[in-house]
Amino acid sequence: MKEILPPLPPIRRNEFETVQALFQQYVVPSYRRFDVAFTRGAGSELWDVHGKRYLDFGGGIAVCCLGHSHPEVTEALVQQSQRLVHVSNLYYHEPQGRLAQALVKLIGPGKVFFANSGGEANEGLYKLARRFGHEEGRFEILTALNSFHGRTLAGIAATGQDKVKQGFEPMVAGFRHVPFNDLAAVRDALSPATVAVLIEGIQGEGGITPATPEYLLGLRRLCDEKKLLLLMDGVQCGHFRTGRFQSFQRLLEGVPGGEKFLPDAISMAKSLGGGFPIGAFWVRAPYADLLGPGTHATTYGGTPLACAVAGRILEIIERDKLADNARAVGEILKNGLEGLAARYPTVVTRVRGLGLMLGFELAPKEQLPALAGSDTTPALECVNRLHAAGLLTVPAGAQVVRLLPALNLTSREATEGLQIIETVVSGLA
Ligand SMILES: *Cc1c(COP(=O)(O)O)cnc(C)c1O
Repeated sequence: MKEILPPLPPIRRNEFETVQALFQQYVVPSYRRFDVAFTRGAGSELWDVHGKRYLDFGGGIAVCCLGHSHPEVTEALVQQSQRLVHVSNLYYHEPQGRLAQALVKLIGPGKVFFANSGGEANEGLYKLARRFGHEEGRFEILTALNSFHGRTLAGIAATGQDKVKQGFEPMVAGFRHVPFNDLAAVRDALSPATVAVLIEGIQGEGGITPATPEYLLGLRRLCDEKKLLLLMDGVQCGHFRTGRFQSFQRLLEGVPGGEKFLPDAISMAKSLGGGFPIGAFWVRAPYADLLGPGTHATTYGGTPLACAVAGRILEIIERDKLADNARAVGEILKNGLEGLAARYPTVVTRVRGLGLMLGFELAPKEQLPALAGSDTTPALECVNRLHAAGLLTVPAGAQVVRLLPALNLTSREATEGLQIIETVVSGLA
């Protein structure tokens, strides 16, 4: 690798204000950013412009599944970019075919469409559903309250949270929301126009809420009975984060009938490219040819470069048994967090999630004396204090702090992170 890659630039110091000023002047201010600017990362460690080290439990929001600067991912990027980067979907190339084959093997009989992000992968699901119901005039998709499906125009219509919709009305038609994990609510909400149900296996942005096995199996039965497509958004909870490739595989482990469960389509992104942008959806065999020639397309979707990287990541996850690692290290983290909830019950009220998709819920602001008089939320305050102490996490809503670290996180790193969390949590007590 040394002969191909230039040496890493030296860590620049005291340049945060310079970088921030560039953003303030030239970058659309649609994000609320934390006051940190990063220069480099390795594994689960990141360094900011001041040279301060952080342990990364946010994983770039569940994206950096092999951590930062994984040498073999770099190698795949360099090798493929020297061979072929892009040709468009007017032609065939091996990396896209091979990646589709690998994803089908991990999920079940079907086919894959490649896109570039989670929101775009979900757009494919909406179009698949509309195509499916078109001749019967059915188009309506039911989604869950508190869900998150991306920031495209249809994505905010699908998302069951008002905050993403505000100011962008009128919403794209054809989406209605029902309470999550409530099968009767889905049944009651069905209309003659309903064509599909879309849920996350574990709600991520909504605060780490797993679907119950009864809900998943009940939805499958209901969708079969009513001729509806069961769509699952696996963008955040997929890609071995829970210890299995898709979260429903983990959620249904050991549940009678669980091993036979399959949704009709699944969207993927985030960890799929480990930081290189790629999204995809898998569609179950009976519906795999619904989107025929000319019905759906994206110029960049599934480039040789993106697919070579995603393919290499899957090989590494399998070779290094990172699904098992996610399970084992996730168990250490979850036990540690539950210990914190037991020792500081006035601060940490609940711990949720599976594998390396975990969340801890903080007490309401009024019950945290440390937050008296501040206008921040418990989650933001906690995340900021964790930053100061050298740990990156991701808030979900006002009350929940999420851990979405790399799948190759070590038990030592997990323990170090837990100690930092304990320091911050005890400071909030
Ligand atoms: C992040 C996310 C999306 C959107 O993905 P983008 O790549 O940001 O478009 C969709 N669904 C879920 C569940 C997500 O977590």
